[in-house]
Amino acid sequence: MAEQESLEFGKADFVLMDTVSMPEFMANLKLRFDKGRIYTFIGEVVVSVNPYKLLNIYGRDTIEQYKGRELYERPPHLFAIADAAYKAMKRRSKDTCIVISGESGAGKTEASKYIMQYIAAITNPSQRAEVERVKNMLLKSNCVLEAFGNAKTNRNDNSSRFGKYMDINFDFKGDPIGGHINNYLLEKSRVIVQQPGERSFHSFYQLLQGGSEQILRSLYLQKSLSSYNYIHVGAQLKSSINDAAEFKVVADAMKVIGFKPEEIQTVYKILAAILHLAIYERLFCWIVTRINDIIEVKNYDTTIHGKNTVIGVLDIYGFEIFDNNSFEQFCINYCNEKLQQLFIQLVLKQEQEEYQREGIPWKHIDYFNNQIIVDLVEQQHKGIIAILDDACMNVGKVTDEMFLEALNSKLAKHGHFSSRKLCASDKILEFDRDFRIRHYAGDVVYSVIGFIDKNKDTLFQDFKRLMYNSSNPVLKNMWPEGKLSITEVTKRPLTAATLFKNSMIALVDNLASKEPYYVRCIKPNEKKSPQIFDEERCRHQVEYLGLLENVRVRRAGFAFRQTYEKFLHRYKMISEFTWPNHDLPSDKEAVKKLIEQCGFQDDVAYGKTKIFIRTPRTLFTLEELRAQML
Ligand code: ADP
Ligand code: MG
Repeated sequence: MAEQESLEFGKADFVLMDTVSMPEFMANLKLRFDKGRIYTFIGEVVVSVNPYKLLNIYGRDTIEQYKGRELYERPPHLFAIADAAYKAMKRRSKDTCIVISGESGAGKTEASKYIMQYIAAITNPSQRAEVERVKNMLLKSNCVLEAFGNAKTNRNDNSSRFGKYMDINFDFKGDPIGGHINNYLLEKSRVIVQQPGERSFHSFYQLLQGGSEQILRSLYLQKSLSSYNYIHVGAQLKSSINDAAEFKVVADAMKVIGFKPEEIQTVYKILAAILHLAIYERLFCWIVTRINDIIEVKNYDTTIHGKNTVIGVLDIYGFEIFDNNSFEQFCINYCNEKLQQLFIQLVLKQEQEEYQREGIPWKHIDYFNNQIIVDLVEQQHKGIIAILDDACMNVGKVTDEMFLEALNSKLAKHGHFSSRKLCASDKILEFDRDFRIRHYAGDVVYSVIGFIDKNKDTLFQDFKRLMYNSSNPVLKNMWPEGKLSITEVTKRPLTAATLFKNSMIALVDNLASKEPYYVRCIKPNEKKSPQIFDEERCRHQVEYLGLLENVRVRRAGFAFRQTYEKFLHRYKMISEFTWPNHDLPSDKEAVKKLIEQCGFQDDVAYGKTKIFIRTPRTLFTLEELRAQML
């Protein structure tokens, strides 16, 4: 449990609530937000509320306060989580990951940047030049990706329009030696259409506003933003964004990372070509690939350097419910179902199962298991993606309406699927073209319009070959499939939804293999205001993030567990009954004796093979006693 600051700031850990109820949870969250305490723990989960103002809590002095400390010793903070993930990685050689979730504008990307900055600040104490170079590249890669993948939307001036998972690799000393980025589902339709009040990707404005006369002339571009169809609407918006200055920052960052001058020139050429023409995702993926080529760990010899461990940071779109939801929202919400399922498995289910296995009394906690919705979307043959792919395979003209027909006939009995045809009395379903999924976070109505085209996602084959045959090597690289022969090309490529599904399954498998840490971000209001705490909106987020269930599990649970043998190995010096060896019938009996001697018997439970300790404070005291003996 986190160190209590002072009760005037509310409870630093929701586990300390008097009763686990929504009103008390909300009252504590609001009190802390009003007092500028934007972080609160639920055990090892950090709940964060976007402050919408700069807080003086990320500086060098704060970093020093968290460095190497135990999670519960300091007030809740992102740095506490970052340090815990780092320590687990370094001390126990565990791969760890930090999963940051929340809706658009809730503060995920800012959180991921603070976490990266923290890790950069506490590593490489010996200032090795090579490590400094790697750290610099990893931090700068963010800046490049944001230029090409972020845009101003109505909800967020710097909204990430792609999902990002970044691995940071560490050597045996715990210093960063490289990394790898995976990107998911860029919202490429934004290049062509933007909602009123929104812009296209920052990169276009940066080039036109910040590019020198000479660059622009060589690209046949004019500085005047209004000349370009795709961006002239967004360009008229007033905002705090300084595109001209950012252009230089990004250009420098690309140089630092190691992009060659001719590569940078080609990037600008393509941006220009897009303004003149419709291929942005390719450019974005190529940029990610190039960054990966450069930052990936090379020549790491485990026999010399020991195990290479990883901390992954996931910053991915949260649940989306718009007035008009389409294929993109369908994919994004499916992604959130997958992540929720992972959370359930890792935090709730695993916990309950372990207590059962160990014979520890356990009060069953009811939670909604969303596996049924994950199956609705991804199941082979029967799921929505399979039905969509089937529709796309049909020769001849297939319409979105035909796809909806197929859904209706195959999913009529599914409790989480509905459409107008299946339920005419349903008022939420306004149009015949709509269908509804009952997600764990609430109902979302999707329009089928565009599903078929977006799923097929076919760039014209001739166009791919044309690009591959370009004399510009960078362009050639972006369209490798252009080299396939005509017969090979006519084989069906995987559809967009299936590619996305495969990438989500791989992502979840990857996360599940690591020790997870969670940051749950909440957006306090729709106005980007530092003052307003919109109760209803916040409660909705608390509900669908499952935070109350999380508190319940945590309270019923134990912070720490260890096999009797390992526990003794670490703490046997504390008691004369166990040091240097014990003559009790079992390790379990020996641990009991030790615990009783210290007076901790009320804070522990004895399982079949493990001791369970309820509060971290007890563990902390054990550590202190151990240190005194050494
Ligand atoms: P998301 O990635 O969840 O869509 P962002 O991380 O981009 O949201 O945050 C949106 C905006 O909110 C940021 O541009 C910034 O203005 C503000 N913000 C988010 N987190 C913080 C923070 N910790 N301190 C100050 N402002 C923040
Ligand atoms: Mg973001």
